[in-house]
Amino acid sequence: APSMTGDFATLMTWADKGRKLKIRTNADAPADAAKAREFGAEGIGLCRTEHMFFGKDRIAAVREMILATSTDDRKKALAKIEPFQKADFVGIFEAMDGYPVTIRLLDPPLHEFLPQKDNVEGTEDVARQMGVPVSAIRERVDELHEMNPMMGFRGCRLPVVFPEIGDMQVRAIIEAAIEVKKKGKSVLPEIMIPLVGVVEELTMLKKRAIATAEECMTKAGIKVEYQIGTMIELPRAALTADEIAAEAEFFSFGTNDLTQMTFGFSRDDIKGFMPTYLKEKILPVDPFQSIDVKGVGKLIDMGIKLGRESRKAKHGQHLKVGICGEHGGDPDSVVFCHKVGMDYVSCSPFRVPIARLAAAQAALGDTARDK
Ligand code: PEP
Ligand code: MG
Repeated sequence: APSMTGDFATLMTWADKGRKLKIRTNADAPADAAKAREFGAEGIGLCRTEHMFFGKDRIAAVREMILATSTDDRKKALAKIEPFQKADFVGIFEAMDGYPVTIRLLDPPLHEFLPQKDNVEGTEDVARQMGVPVSAIRERVDELHEMNPMMGFRGCRLPVVFPEIGDMQVRAIIEAAIEVKKKGKSVLPEIMIPLVGVVEELTMLKKRAIATAEECMTKAGIKVEYQIGTMIELPRAALTADEIAAEAEFFSFGTNDLTQMTFGFSRDDIKGFMPTYLKEKILPVDPFQSIDVKGVGKLIDMGIKLGRESRKAKHGQHLKVGICGEHGGDPDSVVFCHKVGMDYVSCSPFRVPIARLAAAQAALGDTARDK
C-alpha cells in the first residue's frame, strides 16, 4: 500500500500471513474508503447512510422527509435524496474495488436531524427552507419528540412504518452497483438492516428489498450479486439468533448498541458514574471501549452459535459474522472476536493497522496453545 513502506510494511505482511480474521473498515465517504484501502482494509463493514445526509445541501431534503405528513410528500423528499445517495455509493464501490461493502439502511435517531423543541432559530430556518409556517414545523417536531430517542423510532422501525424509505435506499444501492458493473468493475454490496429485534421485521424488509432489487436489475438488464443481512445489536436479536439467521446471509454485531442495551447504560451518558465504576473496580474496563466478555460477550458467543447452526441446518450455508461497533478497533476485543470465530472485524480507517496486528497476535496465541 502506498503510505506504508519499509519495516512497518514488512511487519504488516507477516501479520497478514498469520491472521484468520479479515479486517474491514467503517466508512461513509469515498475518501475514507480510499484511505482505509491504503491501510489494508479488505472491505467496508459499515457504511452508515445517515452520515451521508448531514451535508449542508442535503439536510434540508432529509428534514423534509422526516417532517412529511403524507406518503406523497415523503416520496417527493426521498426523490431529492436518491441521486446523491446513489452517487456516493458509486464512489464507495469504486474505491473498494470489488471488496464487500456493507451498506446499512438509515438508522438516525430522529432528534439528530430535527431542530430541538426549544430551538426557535433552528425551527425558523427549517420552516424557511421548507416554505411552510413555523407553527406547522413546531407541531410536527412536537409530534415526533421522543423521551428516549436511542430506544425510539430508529433503525428498521423506520422502513417498517414508511417502506418508501427502504425502497429508495435499496434502489440507490442496486442501481449504483449496476452502474459500476457496467464499467467492467466488480462490486459486492451487502445490504444491512439495523436494529432488528424480531425476525418478522427482517422478513418483511428483506422481501421488500428483494422485490426492489429485482425490479432494478430487470429494468437495467444486468444482474449484480448482493446479500441481505442484519445487525445484531439488541439483546433479543442475540437471544433469537437462530430465527434471525434463517433470514440473514450475514450478521454484524453492533456492539455500541448491544453494550448500551445490555447494561442499560446510555451510550451518551456515562460520564457521571463510569470513572467511579472503574476506580472502585465495579467494572474492569469501560464496556464501550472493550467488549464486556462476561455479559455482552456471552450474548455475542451465543448469537454466533445459534445463528451458524441454524443457517447451516436450514440453508446449508456458512453464516458470515463480523463486528462493526467501535470495539472492532480495540486490540483486546479483536482477540475476543477471533476466539468466538468471527469472519471479520470492522473499525475506523486509522485503526485498521492495529486491528491487523491484533488479529495476527490472536492467531499466534492459538498456535502457541496447540504446541
Ligand atoms: C453499533 O450499535 O455498534 C453500531 C455500529 O451502530 P451505531 O453506532 O451507528 O448505532
Ligand atoms: Mg447501532
